[in-house]
Amino acid sequence: MSFKSISHLKSLLDQNKISIKEIAETYIKRIKEKKELNIFIYFNEDKIHEQVKEIEKLPNDKTLKGIPIAVKDLFCTAKMPTTAASKILENFKPTYESFVTQKLVDQGSMFVGKTNLDEFAMGSATNTSYFGNTINPLSKNDNPLAPGGSSGGSAAAVAADLCLGATGTDTGGSIRQPASFCGVVGIKPTYGLCSRWGIAAFASSLDQAGVFSKNVTDASILLEEIAGHDQRDSTSSNVQIPSFSKNLDPSLEGKVIGIPKEYNIDGTSDEINGVWEDAIKSLEKKGAKIKHISLPHTKYALPTYYIIAPAEASSNLARYDGVKYGFRASDAKSLDDMYELTRSEGFGKEVKRRILIGTYVLSAGYYDAYYIKAQKVRKLIANDFVEVFSDCDLILTPTAPSAAFPLNEKQDDPIKMYLNDVFTVPASLAGIPGISIPYGNDKQGLPLGIQFLSKHYHEQEIFNAAFALEKDYE
Ligand code: GLN
Repeated sequence: MSFKSISHLKSLLDQNKISIKEIAETYIKRIKEKKELNIFIYFNEDKIHEQVKEIEKLPNDKTLKGIPIAVKDLFCTAKMPTTAASKILENFKPTYESFVTQKLVDQGSMFVGKTNLDEFAMGSATNTSYFGNTINPLSKNDNPLAPGGSSGGSAAAVAADLCLGATGTDTGGSIRQPASFCGVVGIKPTYGLCSRWGIAAFASSLDQAGVFSKNVTDASILLEEIAGHDQRDSTSSNVQIPSFSKNLDPSLEGKVIGIPKEYNIDGTSDEINGVWEDAIKSLEKKGAKIKHISLPHTKYALPTYYIIAPAEASSNLARYDGVKYGFRASDAKSLDDMYELTRSEGFGKEVKRRILIGTYVLSAGYYDAYYIKAQKVRKLIANDFVEVFSDCDLILTPTAPSAAFPLNEKQDDPIKMYLNDVFTVPASLAGIPGISIPYGNDKQGLPLGIQFLSKHYHEQEIFNAAFALEKDYE
């Protein structure tokens, strides 16, 4: 049986054409068949069957009743362990549910498992995980490809039909880039729209939860469920959450769409620029007005991000000291020794690199030159967007500078890996929402994504434009 979307499965459920138990069995079977892709860190059939019993008791008007959802293993879940893909949290069992996953549980969703990611969400290929690489389900046999990262497991789970929706987090692109690599929809909402409570912190001023799905309507359904104010996260916004799915409107008549010249960078393939061009033409045809714009500080976004994110990470990850949670090295002779051994053995190479960079840019003597400077540039980048949005409704860009690349490519070159984020980090630094939708393929048939950005809290605008363009491929 194939289920095209959340609404499709819901209608089958409403007509009693399928039971919640059968949904569970279908997805368990599929997940087992795709085991070699290493999409899940945690998968336990019994846990799924236990949920079936609970879900069956819920009233039928629960929006996500019986909908199979995969959860990035960065969200704390009360009934499943949470590792952040790190050895340091290998045996961590949270005693509580994150805000976002609690919302999904309350609406009756069925968690099929916890998905693989880059360790502590640091990466762009889901290859820094302590639990091994995830393989992009779109790979051909002889050429395994990366699913993107850091939420690569979640994007792959949706692409491989192992769930109908998945949670992700996006600090600098970790929802949008894997969505692009796996040919699915991924939205990072406005910073603060979803509470960060219960999500293992990477860079707190940037971290934002969001979702993956098969189409724009499903993304809008999921986002309206997980968004909302939460007192336990002081940066959570207290705004009214619109009914995104009910308000979906593909008409683009009179909308002004900015095309930033700075996103035309060396090294982007002609195919990606071609897809961008096609999308621009389609928007014009649908009545939108195209405006060529400039975001002059974009070129500083990547270096700015790679100062601020590691700085915050070095501080956030100080809590993993062998005392409070998870792993502790066994053969230490003193307290200092215990800290040192625990952190050296518990963290992987990329996480250590970030902690070192972060500690360096925050240290006395370098703080002003790096961290404070980066904060100032961050403000300039955000101001560029404010300026442009005074007469544009949306911005359209490619999502990533390439299609999915081979599994081990860029593995030994962090700078090359960081370049993946060139189109996604500016929006993260500005805190504005962004969506990636699949729009065309490259010569090898791999999906390419395009990205819409808009003002803070204008998710509806983004959903509408994505909904309109999605129709070109129906
Ligand atoms: N690839 C970026 C990084 O490695 C973004 C990660 C993310 O958004 N979590 O930091």
